[in-house]
Amino acid sequence: MFHKILIANRGEIALRVQRACRDMGIRTVAVHSTADAEAMHVRLADESVCIGPPPAKESYLNIPSIISAATITGADAIHPGYGFLSENADFADVVQAHGLTFIGPTAEHIRMMGDKITAKTTMANLGVPLVAGSDGVVNDLAEARAVADRVGYPVLIKAAAGGGGRGMKAAARAEDLEDAFRTARAEARAGFGNDAVYIEKYLDRPRHIEMQILADSHGNVVHLGERDCSLQRRHQKVLEEAGSPVLDARARDALGETVTSALARIGYRNAGTLEFLYQDGHFSFIEMNTRLQVEHPVTEMVTGIDLVREQIRIAAGQELGYRQSDIRFEGHAIECRINAENPDTFMPTPGRVSAFHAPGGPGVRVDSALYQGYVVPSNYDSLVAKLIVHAHTRPAAIARLRRALDEFAVLGIDTTIPLHRRIVDDPDFQAGNYTIHWLERFVNAEPRG
Ligand code: ADP
Repeated sequence: MFHKILIANRGEIALRVQRACRDMGIRTVAVHSTADAEAMHVRLADESVCIGPPPAKESYLNIPSIISAATITGADAIHPGYGFLSENADFADVVQAHGLTFIGPTAEHIRMMGDKITAKTTMANLGVPLVAGSDGVVNDLAEARAVADRVGYPVLIKAAAGGGGRGMKAAARAEDLEDAFRTARAEARAGFGNDAVYIEKYLDRPRHIEMQILADSHGNVVHLGERDCSLQRRHQKVLEEAGSPVLDARARDALGETVTSALARIGYRNAGTLEFLYQDGHFSFIEMNTRLQVEHPVTEMVTGIDLVREQIRIAAGQELGYRQSDIRFEGHAIECRINAENPDTFMPTPGRVSAFHAPGGPGVRVDSALYQGYVVPSNYDSLVAKLIVHAHTRPAAIARLRRALDEFAVLGIDTTIPLHRRIVDDPDFQAGNYTIHWLERFVNAEPRG
């Protein structure tokens, strides 16, 4: 087992990884930009190293600085968290080349799934169903027209290197295709340095359902069930549930069997998530994330498995030590992503937290790096807390969520807590009756006060 792990991240996820290390008796090294000198992940780590100025490019994405920090402190492994370098195959290669262990999949698998076209082709060859669309890159407008005519409008033009909900353009009708195609390519080039795009049928009422898997280096692959992440704004998740209100145990087992056998065949290792759109009883694969996800706690709550601990154990070469049939799904869990944003306009609201009170009690977990007096910097993602609740049934989890949201106090800055309070009181949400388009309409229709 590792003695010391460097955590190449910040905020709640750096703290989350640190907590797993502590529980395992592993020492931790925090890295931070000058903007984060007072951050909680720095305060609680065994050691910390400043790796650069506030812009992420010069600090949290600065590979030479991070490798130097690991070398100086004598760390033997690096956990990348999510975002930043977590899906950067070159980083995984550099880490290994310096004799350190990258806590994640192989660089080869990160590369394979990082290109969404390669990911889809690979999955299709392994028998995983896809959304109807182009076979690969769509090179010009004529090709785009042919694909759109074949699958039928509306269509979605997506960047092969896209991520974070960016790099997607819909074309409702044939007249819109040329504009959407050119814009999507230009945005892909500007945003990801790669203008390769592909086309998918645009689904009008799907749910986003994803499967969490764990695979060790001894050929064992298990799934930890699904998460329903249909509540999204601008293709970004806002609230997630485990399990999905619309899947039963049989559907979960069937999907789980499909994904675990596919990943076993390519020899995948560590944690991963396969994302699907689910409509009219059919699953269609859209992408795979080769890292820990923001919403992983809901899976931990229903399975009792610590995903970060498992990532670390797998990276150290240990066996999972349990089979699919040993994994039990108990109760229901819901996570709210709480952002430092105005809950009506969604403008970021960096600044000083004048008071902070986290909810507690049975079935409540808060993953956050906030504290009273902390100044939320303007340089990074606005996610500042995750509230996760767990109860025996979905209605009981919703009641607990409402109670926890009422207790939660973050003063001094605006957060999206009021938005979550409104969602929880909505009859559609309570009935589990929503698609990926629901929240966008809810946000736009709500009266503002
Ligand atoms: P990213 O990597 O940017 O997260 P994804 O491919 O995972 O992109 O898609 C993000 C979200 O965009 C999905 O959860 C879904 O809400 C929406 N989306 C993606 N593909 C489609 C599609 N073919 N039809 C409708 N919505 C889609």
